[in-house]
Amino acid sequence: MDGNCKMRIFKGVPASGGIAIGKGYALNRMLPRAVRSIVRRDKVEEEVAAFQRALARSKEQVQAIRDTMTDQSLEHYQILSVHLALLDDSMLLDQTSRMIRESRYTAGWAFENVLKGMLDTFKRIEDPYLRERGHDLRQIGHRVLENLAGRQPDAISAIKDPVIIIAHDLSPADTIQILNSAILGFATDVGSRTSHTAITARSLGVPAVVGLECITKEYSAGGQVIIDGESGTVILNPTEEAVQEYTHKRKAFSQRTRDLAKFARLPTVTRDGNTLSLMANIEFPEEANNALRSGADGVGLYRTEFLYLNRKDLPTEEEHFERYRKIVEKFARRTVTIRTLDLGGDKFASQLDLAEEMNPAMGLRAIRFCLREKDIFKKQIRAILRASHYGKIRMMFPMISGITELREAMGVLDEVRLDLRRKRVPFDKGMPIGIMIEIPSAAIMSDMLAKEVSFFSIGTNDLIQYALAIDRVNEHVSYLYEPLHPSILRLIRRIVEAGHNAGIPVSMCGEMAGEPLYSYVLLGMGLDELSMSAAAIPRIKRILRKSVAYEAKEFVGELLLHPTAEEIGRLLRKKMEDLFPVEGF
Ligand code: PEP
Ligand code: MG
Repeated sequence: MDGNCKMRIFKGVPASGGIAIGKGYALNRMLPRAVRSIVRRDKVEEEVAAFQRALARSKEQVQAIRDTMTDQSLEHYQILSVHLALLDDSMLLDQTSRMIRESRYTAGWAFENVLKGMLDTFKRIEDPYLRERGHDLRQIGHRVLENLAGRQPDAISAIKDPVIIIAHDLSPADTIQILNSAILGFATDVGSRTSHTAITARSLGVPAVVGLECITKEYSAGGQVIIDGESGTVILNPTEEAVQEYTHKRKAFSQRTRDLAKFARLPTVTRDGNTLSLMANIEFPEEANNALRSGADGVGLYRTEFLYLNRKDLPTEEEHFERYRKIVEKFARRTVTIRTLDLGGDKFASQLDLAEEMNPAMGLRAIRFCLREKDIFKKQIRAILRASHYGKIRMMFPMISGITELREAMGVLDEVRLDLRRKRVPFDKGMPIGIMIEIPSAAIMSDMLAKEVSFFSIGTNDLIQYALAIDRVNEHVSYLYEPLHPSILRLIRRIVEAGHNAGIPVSMCGEMAGEPLYSYVLLGMGLDELSMSAAAIPRIKRILRKSVAYEAKEFVGELLLHPTAEEIGRLLRKKMEDLFPVEGF
């Protein structure tokens, strides 16, 4: 037997629960870098011919994808037509061929140079529509480089078989193509539990393991794969026994999910009568039904930036409005918390041409971007206000770092409100406005911020990243990403106290809120609301319904006396094992 056919087991970061068993599909997402070298004089024409072939092959591929698209949206079809036109542009061919001949650059290197020059020109174009074409150029540039390197570029939407994707990385734009596809699950080299790729996988209910470091190298095409998204295990070439074992586990997982579903309809009341709201985090309106089935009391975080991904133009006000209205109508009298655009970090929208930043998590993202691009911001706020007429909406701003930024955002909101009033467009005049507390400076200033808003929502994914200086998507430092770090617990306590002293509710919508291990601590901290992926709701409900709030509060007091995350973690695990033996902590 070939060594590659032996069963091998890998451990990664459990990103999204459930078990998938099936054929693997290696998805290539790394951009080949052209080698900077000079070709021999007698090889120059061969190099030009290789470039022409790569160009022709790219055209064939785009044409073939477009031909399958009769039933797809016109918009997608148009993008591919733009790609074809760019590939046909004689400038690309002529300039690259000339550079290969005159400078004797390799085809890839010459093409990269030409591409870079053209992209710079696009960036300087005033007209936004034409400037956006720079993104299309970059995409076809990737394709040509892939073809020059002899590799086949893939699109998830083109995969029709039920397979498990093996990739170096998947962007959130890739992951959302999994919605409505036959993909069974995925495994990636990079990523962490709080990367947006992992968050989307949980929203879609697709088993996923990330941060495996080298799974793309270890996987050989066509092999069978098992993914256990609960334990973070990936098995390549499983034996017959392993397939049987995991088929049983898959059944047991489905049974557990069905058992837990019974809790969905029950209220979240502790044994001593404290009520909490358990809300859903959603990325797409399509998730609304699932969230309701899981027992969500409303939406605690709607990540609207997903509306911007995978498209060539910006969403119109009507599109925003229709989406929001659809969701609030689905949730009827329940609250829907709409977060204004949070692009940047690990979420990129191609059409906005965000600058490539050295440090995107700390760059021009979220509210900073919106305050720079006020037209985009206003369009969204108008749509949210208009939708508030049809249901119970709360709006919140992401990444607020302090009072000045908050006031500036409120100023924009006031302008939009005034305009709607003048035009007699109906909206909810009392719509609550809140902020995410996810930057340490905001946590420190939470007493002052609380006086200017109607609610707080703690974004632990970013708060932990910034407080502990741990890149949340970097698997090499993920061992330091510790929600139980005493500094984090102190920050949370401070935010909750500040909110309550000012009489406003405090929610948590970071991934910490949906982790069963932390639910008792969060209850003890006094959070009013926890928002999480829909699938997590029933289990958290089961734990909270068996808890006593005042005991949890006392226990948190004890935990806070300990100086390390390790000690706190040990004590907490022991407590959870004692209190909730069926949960298997
Ligand atoms: C957070 O930072 O905790 C959060 C909920 O926002 P996002 O994960 O979208 O950055
Ligand atoms: Mg955040």
